[in-house]
Amino acid sequence: MATSRRDYYELLGVSRTADEGEIKKAFRRLARTLHPDVSQEPDAEERFREVVEAYEVLSKRETRELYDRYGHDGLRGGGFTPTTFDLGSLADLFGAFFGDDLFGMGGRARSSRGADVVAQVELELAEAAKGTTRQVPFPVTVPCVTCAGSGAKPGTEPVACATCDGRGRLQQVTRTALGEFVRTQACPACNGSGRVVEHPCLDCDGSGRTVEERTLDVEVPPGIHDGQQIRVSGEGHAGPLGGRAGDVYVQVRVKPHPRLVREGNDLFCTVDLTMTEAALGTTVRIPTLDGEQELQLEAGTQPGRLHVLRGKGMPVLQGFGRGDQRVLVNVQVPRRLTEEQRGLLEEFEQSASDETYEADEGFFQKLKSAFR
Ligand SMILES: [Zn+2]
Ligand SMILES: [Zn+2]
Repeated sequence: MATSRRDYYELLGVSRTADEGEIKKAFRRLARTLHPDVSQEPDAEERFREVVEAYEVLSKRETRELYDRYGHDGLRGGGFTPTTFDLGSLADLFGAFFGDDLFGMGGRARSSRGADVVAQVELELAEAAKGTTRQVPFPVTVPCVTCAGSGAKPGTEPVACATCDGRGRLQQVTRTALGEFVRTQACPACNGSGRVVEHPCLDCDGSGRTVEERTLDVEVPPGIHDGQQIRVSGEGHAGPLGGRAGDVYVQVRVKPHPRLVREGNDLFCTVDLTMTEAALGTTVRIPTLDGEQELQLEAGTQPGRLHVLRGKGMPVLQGFGRGDQRVLVNVQVPRRLTEEQRGLLEEFEQSASDETYEADEGFFQKLKSAFR
């Protein structure tokens, strides 16, 4: 491409000592007025490219130094070639330069992409733990086969929109006390596409899209949480008139387990012992992710006692290891006694002493004696 021979500082209208901020500001101001979508001048595009090139050189320290010392020849000797771009990609270019939407073209760029689809999948807790692959059905718009997504009846073609001259955008100039504001908006006649269909395709009514039931095999990773989403990119609704497809967001519902409660990667369950089971010791069956399992409880098990089954919880999503399963002991005290039972308990109570209820050496005691 032709490379400007004009002085870059002159092009941007800044002094040779201008700092980064001044250069950026000058470029933004010029870009807004010179952009061919905004300016009606016949040489707008040429001037715009020059300004972009000047900014490209002066905004980077290496190229600016090269240019300061050796001018245009120095740049070429240093291997500099201006970025080739087409004006359609300028919105992206400015997004990259400034992280903003300089010309209000973002709306157009977004609208040409298809919408996202939200689908749902419901899993048992055990499935969420192991991971699974599920077939997820959802309705999706796809490019119309008859017109290949153009919306035009076979044998005809969409034509340039007369309202916006095929640009897809309209300008609105507002005069205010603060000056003239130019606002660019998507053309309502063609929805910003720049094209209109004169003879619509009969199968899609000119939209270029039809609705289809689609099924995706969605891989659910082990450890997924209730409410999380899995994104499948590019499988959503087709964009209007051949635009890029949107994404599919699969919302994961993990059904509550009847006996296990999940908190993060840990699982909780409770076990009910009778007063005598707690006193005498017993073996109970507890629910786990791998089915029921036996748990031995020693004589003298206290209410509120917590058993931790290490690594029996949920796997860490996209990580290593698993959470734990915690088993909380509840001790049930009889609420209704027969005369005979009352007698037995009274007898028991009379035979009991402080020693009957004395705790074993606690953890703290053990720790202390270890240091003696
Ligand atoms: Zn069609
Ligand atoms: Zn239009």
